[in-house]
Amino acid sequence: MGRGTTRITKLPQTPRIPISIQTDPSELDLRFGQHYWPIFLLKRGLNVCWEILADVQHGSPSLLRVDHDMMDPTVADLVERWDTLYKEGRFSALNVREYWRLKVPEIYSPQPNCNCLRIIFDEELAQKMLFDPLERFMCGGDPAQIYQMVKQLDNPPSLCGRVFKNGDPTYGCRDCGMDPTCVLCADCFKNSAHSKHRYKISTSSGGGYCDCGDREAWKTDVFCDIHVKGQMVQHSQNPLEKIPTDLTERIHLIFDCILPYAKELLTYEEGFSIPKDLEIRESDREPTNLSSLYDIKDTYVTMLYNDETHTYDQVINTLERAIECSQKDAVAFATSIDREGRCIVRCSSFQQCSQTKNLMEKQTSRGGGRPLKVQVMQTYIIAHQMFASRLLTWLHNILESAQAFRLIFSDIVNKDGGSIVENIIWTDTKMWKTARVQWHRLFISGMLMDQESKKMFARTFTKHYSKMMKDFILDDHDHAVSVASLGVQLFTMPTIAHMLVSEEDVLARLLNTFLSECEKKLRDNKLALEHRSSNTSSFRRIQYILYDLKYLLGVKPEAWTDSLRRGFLHGYNLLLRLLGMMQGMDPMVRQVGTHMEYEPEWESAFNLHIKLAAVIPLVIEWAASDRIVLIKSYRLLMKSLGDLGTEATRRRYVRELLDYSVSCIEYDVSSAPVSIHLPLSRLVAGLTLHLDKYGLNYNSPEFLVKGKPSPEELMEPVLRTQVMIAQVHAGMWRRNGFSLINQIYFYHNVRCRQEMLDRDVMLLQIAATLIDSNEFLVHLMNRFNLMSWAREDYEINYLKGNDEDNMRQTVVLVEEYLQLVMTLVAERYTPGIGHIEEEDKIKKEIIQLLCIEPMPHSVLNKALPEGTNHETGMEKVIDEVADFKKSSGATKGYFELKKSYYSHYNLFFYHYTREEQSKSEVGQRARKKAAGEEECCPPPVPPPFTVPFTMIVNILQCDVFLHIIKTVLKRMSETKTQSVSESQLQKVLHLIGYALHEEERYHHNNDPYFHFTRRAQKINLLSLLEGLVGHNRTSTHKDLLAWTIRKYHAVLILSTDSAKQSQASEAVLASTSTSELATASAEKKRRADIAAQRKARIMAKMASMQQNFIKTNETFFQETPSTEQTLDILESTPMEISEQLPEDMIAIGPRQTLRAPQEITYTCILCHQEDVVCGGDGSTGRPMVLGALIQRSTVLSRNRTRHLDQPENHDPLLLPADLHWGAHTSSCGHAMHAQCWQKYFDDVLTKERRRPYRFRQNLSFDIEKLEYLCPLCEALCNTALPLLPSVTSTAASLQNQDSASPLPSISISDWLKGLHTILKYKSGDGKEEEEDNSSCSEGTWMPPSLPTVAVELISVTSPQSAEAFSVLFNNPAATTIPTFVSHTSEMMSNFAHAVYTNGLGVNPNASSRRIPLMVWDSAAYTIHTLEETQRNANRALLTSLSARQRDCLAALVKFAAYVPSCVKKKQVIESAIVRLLSILLEGGETTPAVLEWDTFSMLVTLSLGLPSIFPNIQGKATGSQQDLHLLQVCFLAHLVQLLLTYEGRNSSLEMEVVSDMNEQSDESSCSSSSDAAWLVSILAHCRELANLPPITVEDQHLLSYVKESCLPFLRCCGLFFHFLTEVPAPEELQSSVWVPESEFYCLLRYLGLAMNQLRPTFSSPALSELVNRWCCDSRVGALVGGAGSKGCVKSWVRINQLVRLPHDYSELINTVSQFPCPASSGDDSRTPTMCLVCGKMLCSQSYCCQTEFPEGSRQMVGACTYHAHHCGAGTGIFLRVRECKILLLSGRIKGCFVNPPYLDEYGETDQGLKRGNPLHLDATQYSRLHTMWLSHAIPDTIAHTMESNSSVVATEWQHL
Ligand SMILES: [Zn+2]
Ligand SMILES: [Zn+2]
Ligand SMILES: [Zn+2]
Ligand SMILES: [Zn+2]
Ligand SMILES: [Zn+2]
Ligand SMILES: [Zn+2]
Ligand SMILES: [Zn+2]
Repeated sequence: MGRGTTRITKLPQTPRIPISIQTDPSELDLRFGQHYWPIFLLKRGLNVCWEILADVQHGSPSLLRVDHDMMDPTVADLVERWDTLYKEGRFSALNVREYWRLKVPEIYSPQPNCNCLRIIFDEELAQKMLFDPLERFMCGGDPAQIYQMVKQLDNPPSLCGRVFKNGDPTYGCRDCGMDPTCVLCADCFKNSAHSKHRYKISTSSGGGYCDCGDREAWKTDVFCDIHVKGQMVQHSQNPLEKIPTDLTERIHLIFDCILPYAKELLTYEEGFSIPKDLEIRESDREPTNLSSLYDIKDTYVTMLYNDETHTYDQVINTLERAIECSQKDAVAFATSIDREGRCIVRCSSFQQCSQTKNLMEKQTSRGGGRPLKVQVMQTYIIAHQMFASRLLTWLHNILESAQAFRLIFSDIVNKDGGSIVENIIWTDTKMWKTARVQWHRLFISGMLMDQESKKMFARTFTKHYSKMMKDFILDDHDHAVSVASLGVQLFTMPTIAHMLVSEEDVLARLLNTFLSECEKKLRDNKLALEHRSSNTSSFRRIQYILYDLKYLLGVKPEAWTDSLRRGFLHGYNLLLRLLGMMQGMDPMVRQVGTHMEYEPEWESAFNLHIKLAAVIPLVIEWAASDRIVLIKSYRLLMKSLGDLGTEATRRRYVRELLDYSVSCIEYDVSSAPVSIHLPLSRLVAGLTLHLDKYGLNYNSPEFLVKGKPSPEELMEPVLRTQVMIAQVHAGMWRRNGFSLINQIYFYHNVRCRQEMLDRDVMLLQIAATLIDSNEFLVHLMNRFNLMSWAREDYEINYLKGNDEDNMRQTVVLVEEYLQLVMTLVAERYTPGIGHIEEEDKIKKEIIQLLCIEPMPHSVLNKALPEGTNHETGMEKVIDEVADFKKSSGATKGYFELKKSYYSHYNLFFYHYTREEQSKSEVGQRARKKAAGEEECCPPPVPPPFTVPFTMIVNILQCDVFLHIIKTVLKRMSETKTQSVSESQLQKVLHLIGYALHEEERYHHNNDPYFHFTRRAQKINLLSLLEGLVGHNRTSTHKDLLAWTIRKYHAVLILSTDSAKQSQASEAVLASTSTSELATASAEKKRRADIAAQRKARIMAKMASMQQNFIKTNETFFQETPSTEQTLDILESTPMEISEQLPEDMIAIGPRQTLRAPQEITYTCILCHQEDVVCGGDGSTGRPMVLGALIQRSTVLSRNRTRHLDQPENHDPLLLPADLHWGAHTSSCGHAMHAQCWQKYFDDVLTKERRRPYRFRQNLSFDIEKLEYLCPLCEALCNTALPLLPSVTSTAASLQNQDSASPLPSISISDWLKGLHTILKYKSGDGKEEEEDNSSCSEGTWMPPSLPTVAVELISVTSPQSAEAFSVLFNNPAATTIPTFVSHTSEMMSNFAHAVYTNGLGVNPNASSRRIPLMVWDSAAYTIHTLEETQRNANRALLTSLSARQRDCLAALVKFAAYVPSCVKKKQVIESAIVRLLSILLEGGETTPAVLEWDTFSMLVTLSLGLPSIFPNIQGKATGSQQDLHLLQVCFLAHLVQLLLTYEGRNSSLEMEVVSDMNEQSDESSCSSSSDAAWLVSILAHCRELANLPPITVEDQHLLSYVKESCLPFLRCCGLFFHFLTEVPAPEELQSSVWVPESEFYCLLRYLGLAMNQLRPTFSSPALSELVNRWCCDSRVGALVGGAGSKGCVKSWVRINQLVRLPHDYSELINTVSQFPCPASSGDDSRTPTMCLVCGKMLCSQSYCCQTEFPEGSRQMVGACTYHAHHCGAGTGIFLRVRECKILLLSGRIKGCFVNPPYLDEYGETDQGLKRGNPLHLDATQYSRLHTMWLSHAIPDTIAHTMESNSSVVATEWQHL
């Protein structure tokens, strides 16, 4: 009923048949390429015009706003004049129209030469001058009061009737809806009982309304809680009776004036003149009149109309040239035309406007196409049209407000037999889109809410149905914008449908319209549909009638009247004519000799069939519900068949077998035409099943009509189809091509078989009851051409001359014959044939499907036949027969058959395809073998036949049958026979099995009629069977043979002994599946316990370690730790050493753990040879690389308001603290020789460059960006990362040789003095140099030489310190750099350059000084990312790192360490490090403040660059004491950051875990309290320096805050130094249980810091000075206080999440249903898409929101691509809300769709809402997406997805 969203969405999605079997049609819908998608958009646009109305409403007058005081005096006069006329009885519409004639052009005429995109009218003036007088006169007083009064007469509404806009969510109830078109709006749904039922959600495509309160729409729960109130109030009298007649009359007058006016103007077309009385006349020139009016007459517009033939691009191109506008404006015009149906593109003189028109027509008609529709019109006509359109909106609002208005409206439009309705229907296709939709909506609001009006409307609609459909066929607009689309609103209501059938002859009207189209397509009285002909589209359009037919028949009548019978039968008779035209259509003749030259058309016929297949069951249901109708229907059907009469006239011949001679119809399927379309025959099957109910049968005297076919004639067409299919299986039709294969596929397929295969089997079963069994089998055998096969002497006399091919064919044909016989006797799961209910039928289908394999809900549901309401009925029975196994991880949940139902398995189930049959057989045999049972699948016991069909069992005991099984068994037993096969034996054994089952049943019923064993004695069946035992030809089926013989004996005993034996139950008790579940959860618990215990152990150990430490040396922490002291402690506590040893790894500083250098070899994936990268002696083999991907990233951004907008000017000296951008490096970890890689890469490049351009779109990698796929794993790469030797291996080997002299130690304060000295003596001006300036020595800082610094240091510190400082930089370990072969150096430069270009997204510039800095930034950023990913997964630092992550990071860090040596001008490094030191140590207004640094990036760059700071010294980092000092300084800077941004106790940072832990350690440790006190004092100090007000601090809270917040920093440092120095990490860092606080201490130790306290690390006074300098910066206070882009990072531990999504998917869809397109005012977006990174809603895949990008390129990109560029630095992750799909985008031209995180109750996704089950957010799925995003895996995911489904038509991802 209602109104349908579902309907309207359903219509265009008519089931489409794929062209070949392999293609899934839904696949095609998903893709759209350059050629397709503009049309696609344009067409979709048409569906959506309901949304336009929102726009029109904007400018429409509000209903209740009338300001009388301000009323214009002339308006007051006017109303008074009208009032006077009215009182005198002289008022007429003409008075109003004359006023409009003068006023309307003045207000609504577009101005000449105005900007046509922004035509704005003075709506306020219009309200005052046009609408106010109308309302005042109509109300005869204050309109507001009157409206209020009329409204109060309304009963509270008991009908919702909310009209849906495009994209609104709608809800159907599968339990209570009368049909799937009955839907509720979101509000009603939430307040109704249906929200607890099995509901279905979908999104409306506009049109249709909420059905809440419609009794004919819902079986139960008709009202929601809101509308039930309206229902409680007793319906009072007609509200019109309460309104003063004066008012009624006035309203009448006004409506009667508006409607004709709107009608005349909106249907105005060129050539028609505007109504005379509205024309501008010569007299208007008089100055006394409105002088401007006459001028308006000379202004014209060029109006461009929408059509379905031209694409967006064509329209845009034409506009750009014809009116010389910008592309942007042209797009805006095109969008507006698409939305509204027309648009003014020029407003000027007649001459100019015509010129534009001609230009456009000429351009678009080039090449013989249809030109665009363009009109030149006078502006004042446009003005009237504008006003008319606004009047309709005004009227719509009034009608919605009160019932009384609706009644008057309905009165007017229905008078004179509905002449206005009639008129609009007739002129529908003459109007443009908006105008049409406005009228349709007016009809809905004005007439469809009221029963009586609706009926009247339905009658008028029906009367003009034929004309309307014919217009619709010629029209090129979508069905949704045709008035014909209102049919669904009327015909789905049963009372109206039944009324129309009985009183308006609606069925006949519909069918006649349809038939008149069909008659044009007849050839030899058969429908001949041509696929490629030009009028296909008209035939497709006419098929909408069949949907209307289906709606009309949706509910069968409860009671029949004569007129209803007449109406139905009239339609039915026409339907028979249609079916008669289809009977035997698309006939096929077996092709012999050559192959078919062309594939004959078949799709159109199947498409028609699918639509009729929805109607026919309803027709049968109607006919079967009344005896008279059934008899008449059956007679008419028999007559139709008789009229066709082909079989009756055919020649007969006699066939003999045994003692039976049968007169058979002569026909040869292998040479004469055969068709698969037999709807008339199939209708017989459908109706016959219902005869018995009324005591009728085929032979009843009621059905004696001339030409009625005999049973053989009746079954003949169907039998031929069966034989043809059998011959196809036997390979006889091989030359007939795919058309035939496809037809047979669909004949069998679940989408078609209900009205094809199923009916055919039914009809043959019916024939079997009407024909003697022996004769029946002979008829069949004759048609199969097996008569000679059945002869005893076949092998001897007939086979001789035949070739082998023929032999094989006969063998298969016999198999097929036996299969058909088996199907006829054993398939009884159809109500009416077997003693079963509808539910048993579904159960049977499910059992058979699940015997193939366990299936997910959606797969199973899809494999089941749908009823007319698209329901399979599966839920009702599924729990009885199957268990649902919940989804785990990536696998979907699925249904598994309950064990007891396996005995129902029928191997030869007629719905099985051959693949399904063999798959299920293999599965079932394996299952039985595993259970130790016999390996065979004997026939199950079928349900008994119903009475009319009992005769069929006789087949199983008749002579011919016995003869056949004897023939097969005998030939089987002879060794040399060729005409027999294992499959024949298997089928014969099954048939015997069925016979035995049947005998058993008859025996139990004490019915002697069926006695197979007795009859079988004639052929000695038992001994025949027993003779086969052990025969080698029967070995495959020996178990089945054994079963058959056993069964035979059992039945024999039954009949001889008459002993009541209970049937052996084969049911196996359902095994304890529950216990499996129990063990699973126990296992889970066990693991959790282990984890908890482990955690507790670590905590305890840590506490004890701390205590011991403090006890042993309380004064130790007063001083900076030195090597000897630490060793002392370790030696003095031997117990601790053994406890600590595995943890006692130190990566940096003087105590660095030494290790033996490792030899690392890699195998090249291209040439498979091994090579050493890092030999023990520092030697290397041939250079090797890893494929790597550098991507720009914003994933870690802590400030989404900042973007890297100008990469050209970016200074990458260090990463910003908010990490708002970065360059991420990843690798798949596959090693290649540099040479092998180069060759591979060059090959890829040449190959792709040679590809024609149009195919390049499809690539999953972008060669323009030097991308390629890893040759082994197809991971996306854009560069190669060199594998370099370890930085410490040389150092270690050197130290080993020279261990006697350890490096001298230098204190941190002396070291800092050294650095200050460098700064003091630096030269240059410190300004950043221009990129293109190749000179390096100017404009930068240059460091002094090392001796200069050393000399100075002696004076400020001591000679020892100066010496130590020099040695830091100048010792062999740090300065020994392996000499790289030239190829390695080249690869190194290339990689560094790739980091620069890809990381910044800038053009190549090999000499840029930013290159080395970018490499260090990227190393820091990549480590940050890995740290967060690990933390996000709750993992300790190195836990479960994959080999590729390790390899990648190790290679990257080593590379970064060697970067200084591959830089051509070392001064670049020197200068950068001086600048960085200056930032760190000196500060100043021109450098970033402490809160703006990423301290880790600072550490990485300094530690890798500082060794090379001095001229002529090439150094590298080795984890020396200098690194430890650097760490101390950077760590301190980070602590200062943390303290400055500390926000006290209430901070949301607080984590419960941490505070819990804290309480534990409180009691046992005083170290923490000392740390806490220290932190509190520094905090106060820092805040004071920064001029921040003091805050109250709780010391323990502060301590845990600091520990928690600096852990990420320490973890990054841990990763960095681990991969730099390769010192093995303590086991705890790889533990499966992550205990953050314990890891904190562990990292302190690993990094060579004070072991369990913070304070000692920072005790040097030199460090306090640094703190002072950092905090004194005046900007610090502002940064702490600021917010957004002005503030600094406040939360240092937060891991970026994707946006929070609501749990219930429908909530999400509700929120976006109102999302307007940001580019067009008030329009809803068609594809609202949410950025999951920042939550922004975008209007995707639409011209309206395309942006030129890059600017000036003239390339337009969609909203998502554009947004991704800024928000995600080119990578994006989006949720397309309406389709429930995740969209991934990367690098402009690549993208893919992946599964959404919303799942239904069966754990399945529903992309595109195809199934509509309720969906809920699945946390696991969503976190999987989050991890993908966080770990930068999106580009790779896209590459993999694109690579694995390359399609013919590529999606242009950049347009999304
Ligand atoms: Zn509603
Ligand atoms: Zn409601
Ligand atoms: Zn319900
Ligand atoms: Zn190689
Ligand atoms: Zn790979
Ligand atoms: Zn938009
Ligand atoms: Zn975003």
